[in-house]
Amino acid sequence: SLSKEKAILFYQSCMDTQQIESQGTQPLKDLLNQVGGWNITGIGRAKDFNKTLQTLMGKYNTFPFFRVYVGPSPSDSNINIIQIDHPEFEMPPENKFKEKKSYLEVTYQRLKQGKNSWHLLGGPQDVPPDSFSLTLSFISNLQRVVTPLQERRQRGMLFYRTTIRELQEKAPAIDWLLCLQAAFHPVPVNLSQPIAVHDMDYLQSMSRLIEQWQKERVLHIYMIVCLVGNLSPALDSRFQDARLELSKILHGKMESRVIPEERWRKCLSETSSFFEPVLGQMIVQEIFPEQNKKLAEQMFSEIQDALYGQLYQLEWMDEQTRLEAKVLVSRLQVEIGYPAHILQTAKVNVEYQNLEINQETFLLNVVACLKALRENSYQRLLQHRSEDNWKIFPWDVHSYYSLRHHMVVFPAGMFRSPFFNPEFPSAVNFGAIGVFMAHELLHTFYSYVLPGGCPTCNRSALQQAIDCLVKQYESYSMFGFKINGTFTLLENIADNGGLAIAYQAYKNWLKKHRQEKDLPKIGLSHDQLFY
Ligand SMILES: [Zn+2]
Repeated sequence: SLSKEKAILFYQSCMDTQQIESQGTQPLKDLLNQVGGWNITGIGRAKDFNKTLQTLMGKYNTFPFFRVYVGPSPSDSNINIIQIDHPEFEMPPENKFKEKKSYLEVTYQRLKQGKNSWHLLGGPQDVPPDSFSLTLSFISNLQRVVTPLQERRQRGMLFYRTTIRELQEKAPAIDWLLCLQAAFHPVPVNLSQPIAVHDMDYLQSMSRLIEQWQKERVLHIYMIVCLVGNLSPALDSRFQDARLELSKILHGKMESRVIPEERWRKCLSETSSFFEPVLGQMIVQEIFPEQNKKLAEQMFSEIQDALYGQLYQLEWMDEQTRLEAKVLVSRLQVEIGYPAHILQTAKVNVEYQNLEINQETFLLNVVACLKALRENSYQRLLQHRSEDNWKIFPWDVHSYYSLRHHMVVFPAGMFRSPFFNPEFPSAVNFGAIGVFMAHELLHTFYSYVLPGGCPTCNRSALQQAIDCLVKQYESYSMFGFKINGTFTLLENIADNGGLAIAYQAYKNWLKKHRQEKDLPKIGLSHDQLFY
């Protein structure tokens, strides 16, 4: 398919390090020139500033002054809305420095040692020397107006509901409508658009700072630095080395954020972040054929039946709660293997139809993908398609229960050895993937064990059962630390109950399916294989 070819071409352009090295900084320089480069005329005009910012947000997925994303609304978690927060800063925050010298001085000295990085990361030779320290000073000013998370929580300002119109009044330095329209294109955005702001104080102070610094070229330099930082993973090895060096200077050797890895790993993870449905489809066809999915679904329904049966074994549960518990489970959205839409090749091709991937320049491919990824994901999130509730990749090896969507997810990556194989004795499959299935199902009952969670249940019998499990786990220790039985209670319930349910399901399964012969040479019974 077309999108598959694009994904492969993208991966190849990432692997072609010879080409990337030979092009050096040229692709970046060309790109920077399109946003005014380092030396622009007419700096200081608010219009130019907003125009550059708009380009950065819309075209390069770069957000220097604030972070924009789409997430669940604070009042109704089933609805996604636009959210704005302070940006993540590359520089360590001031309070990380215990030295008596000023933060700025320390950072400046450290950065000067890494002058190579600065120039490689795009810092020009001909910028007046004070622009550099002025830019640093601007960044540290920005960082200083971030409200600490704890304070925001205490003052109940973590979710401030507002509109673009109000934002424009409170933080006028940014042309919010134009910038957000650029960021969310092609999704329409208007002045009364509901928005959740996580740090309104920051946005107001940020706006004042931008107005104060408008005359300097500092704002522009800062934006370019952010853009280069965002794109540098796509540049030649000197940039990777420089980033590593800079990271060591800024965060110290131990805290270095950049870990060098094999090229193919890096390229694979870049390709999968941009082409998730395409790679998902390739993986599913390879490791999770239709007959495996069918078997997995049969096992799941056996587990579900065994769970219903086990509800009658619980002395503390009353009849009414049993019925409610069954309804709760029957209403679950069950996702086994992959989100359905990834196998709809035509639809996936549409998502990537405007994306152009070339053989020559990896940087341009990354830029094109950043834009396409942003457009696709915003469109999906703001349209609330239930098939997009997956928060993991189909190839991940990690199941979960989502409280928000009342959904259990078992990605295709789990349906492999040693957890699952259609050729394995069913004891092995039930003892592995079956236990995980039952584990996630039991998480839907989490509220019963919370204080006051099940008012009609026999609370004293329930409390006794809880105390027993807490006590059992408190007798274990891990890495020399005693386990906190209360803290891990919900997981322990799911583990223990899950094992019992999966075993029961296996016994029921045997009654319906043909008996399996003992495995020669292994010398274990099927029960032993299960455990
Ligand atoms: Zn769990």
